[in-house]
Order: sequence, then C-alpha cells, then structure tokens
Amino acid sequence: MKRIFISDLHLDKSAPHLKDALEYFLHTECSDADELYILGDLFEAWIGDDDPREHSREIVKMLGSLTCQLFLMHGNRDFLIGDQFCKETGAKLLEDPSVISIDNEQVLLSHGDSFCTLDLSYQKLRPILRSNEFQKEFLSKELEEREFISKQMRGESTKHTGNIEEEIMDVSLETVITAMEQNGVDKLIHGHTHRPAIHQHPLKDRVGLRYVLGDWRPSTKFLVTEGNSYELKTFYFSA
Ligand code: MN
Repeated sequence: MKRIFISDLHLDKSAPHLKDALEYFLHTECSDADELYILGDLFEAWIGDDDPREHSREIVKMLGSLTCQLFLMHGNRDFLIGDQFCKETGAKLLEDPSVISIDNEQVLLSHGDSFCTLDLSYQKLRPILRSNEFQKEFLSKELEEREFISKQMRGESTKHTGNIEEEIMDVSLETVITAMEQNGVDKLIHGHTHRPAIHQHPLKDRVGLRYVLGDWRPSTKFLVTEGNSYELKTFYFSA
C-alpha cells in the first residue's frame, strides 16, 4: 500500500504554474499510489463549491480523474471546501485532526494551524471562521462579494504574519507533544508551517516522529509511505 501526503499547494489563478505542477505530480510521483492525502491549503483561497471560474473547475476535474483514493483535510485557507467538491472529486473529507492506520500503526494527521498556539490572535479568530454562522452567512453572499472579502482577509493575514516573530509562526512543541500523547501515536504528519522537516520529540516512554510537509513554491517536500517505510521526498518543478 503506497500512500502520498502533500499539503500547502496554495493553488491560485494568479499562479497557474502551480496547477500544472500538480498535474505533473499526479502523473509522475502519484501514478502508482493507492491513496493521496492532501492535508490542507490545497487552495490559496476557496470561496465556495459553486465557484464557476475556470481555474477552480479545472482543478476539480483534475482531481476527479484520479485513479487512487483521495483524502482531503481542510486548511486555514480552504476550510469552505464542502460536500459538492468532495462529490465531484471523489475525495473523502478528513476531520482535523484524524488518526489513520499505516501498516498497523496509528498515525496522527493534521493541517497544523491548530498547533500554532503561540499565535494568540490567530487562535482567537480560528473558531469564528470555522463556525456555522460565519460560513453560512459568507456562502450566502454573491460570488464577487465573497472574492472581495477573501482578498481583504488574505491581506490582513499577510500583514499579521509579517509583523510577528518567526517562532510564533511555528508550532508550539508543547502543543504537538500533548496531541501525540493524547492520541497515543508515535507519528504525526502535518503541513501549514512551510518548514518541511522530520523532527524527533521525546514522549513519555518513546520517541515521537513529526513529519512536516512543504509548501509548493517553487519545489516541495512530500511524504511517501510504503509498508512501514517513510520517506520525505523532494518534488521539483519549473516556476
Ligand atoms: Mn495553512
């Protein structure tokens, strides 16, 4: 059983080469995979499954033609991906966090933004954005207005992340270790921080391994698991 884990593509119509890179990735690295996991921030922004724009439709079509099983987790940018998207792409939506079994071992999956607990203002905003009230109201607006609001929010987010310290932007080790202990896992896979690496963490009676996936500008690091082997591989593409 070959599984591939990617995240943080931040697909956007202003950067069409990323869509091409994904297509290339699906046809090469992914061609013999059994399962593909996209752990959040597939899109730079997702303003609703009813988005008729060509860029969005092409990606839905591309994912829909995959022969392996697709699993999808929301990121902080595309948490409005809904049932229609999943139906059209054949994706199964995973809760954040989720525990899956890989080679008879329980492994924790997450986008990763919920581990960034040092960023207090973001953690305050997160439950508001994820609330049914906000989402229902936002999705009831005209598409143009949704696009406008989404752009404004991204501007605010860039301002915010530009103003805070590097360390605050990363996960809190305490939060990560607590999550691994609470879920009784030795392995955690996440994205979000754009800091691909394999980290070792001291847990109570064992060593925990944390696999961090990369973003896609202009290359990425993705994880391949086959049996009990884990490999963080690099995928290059031209910008
Ligand atoms: Mn993210």
